[in-house]
Amino acid sequence: MSNITFDAIHTQTKQKKLTEMMHQSARVCHEMHNPNPVLNQCSICQSNNINFHVEKFGFRLDRCDDCEQIFCNPMPSHEQLASYYNGPMKEFENQFFADSFENRIPIFSHRINVIHNYVKQGLLLDIGSAIGIFIEALKRSNTELSIHCCEPSADACTRLKQRFPEINLYNNWLQDLPSEEKYDAITLWDTIEHIEDIDIFTQKVFSLLKPGGYWFFSTPNTHSFEWQIAGKDHVQLLPPGHINLFNPNSIEILMHRHGFNISEMQTPNGTLDISYIDKLTQSSNQYDEHLGSFLKTHLQDENFKQQFAQLLSTTTTAGNVFVIARKPA
Ligand SMILES: [Zn+2]
Repeated sequence: MSNITFDAIHTQTKQKKLTEMMHQSARVCHEMHNPNPVLNQCSICQSNNINFHVEKFGFRLDRCDDCEQIFCNPMPSHEQLASYYNGPMKEFENQFFADSFENRIPIFSHRINVIHNYVKQGLLLDIGSAIGIFIEALKRSNTELSIHCCEPSADACTRLKQRFPEINLYNNWLQDLPSEEKYDAITLWDTIEHIEDIDIFTQKVFSLLKPGGYWFFSTPNTHSFEWQIAGKDHVQLLPPGHINLFNPNSIEILMHRHGFNISEMQTPNGTLDISYIDKLTQSSNQYDEHLGSFLKTHLQDENFKQQFAQLLSTTTTAGNVFVIARKPA
């Protein structure tokens, strides 16, 4: 298992400036009218047992008591999302991805090995390619897959075109992608948590896959060690960016509702949880109660730490879940 840490993939500049940037972007959003209704039903499992969870940056997040999905309620409007994704936050994020480019490659190396185990040749569509870290990792792996990219940001597309002139690039939202082309594999990295109409999105992915094709995606896992300890302070409670936060149970419900079969769910990066919780517990003792004195003491020990990270990975309880779902043949 690779030793990926929180500090390696979240640069110091990002950690320092993120909250300030989020408040700034949120202020602009709150000046806009949001016509979206407050939902009284969970969009994943349709339960009515939804309750207030936490407020962040002036946005309310609710939690479903049944499938435990956490979601923005009401969902931000298209106008608010457009302002968020085209404002200074996007530029800040692209710069931060550029700064952590090489440190992020190892995260994709594992995922690419898994992809190649399922799909060796054919057509792959990467949705939300951003500045192309995954594409670079895929190229370095000498893949035989042909790559198409779908990326709504014009700025990111310019960078992608310069770096990879040979790939087929759609500067579009997924919904606007032509439906004639069908894919053997679709990849979507840490993006599904940004999607507000999850049913329309999932349907579109399903329709773009060939029968027997695979959808590979990753997203934060709220049923994880780091979320259990960080609770409502978790750094990824980040509306209007993160507006749908999943767990393995809610993912399973969504996938089955749309006709996918789940081949595998993995949480390969337990070391990320440990390094993030290390940071939190060093900054404040308010997390000690969640952590418990046993874990607090033993996580000082390097050997225990390594074994514990491994355990989080093998029991699907680390903070980022990698899902392999298949459209029936
Ligand atoms: Zn639910």
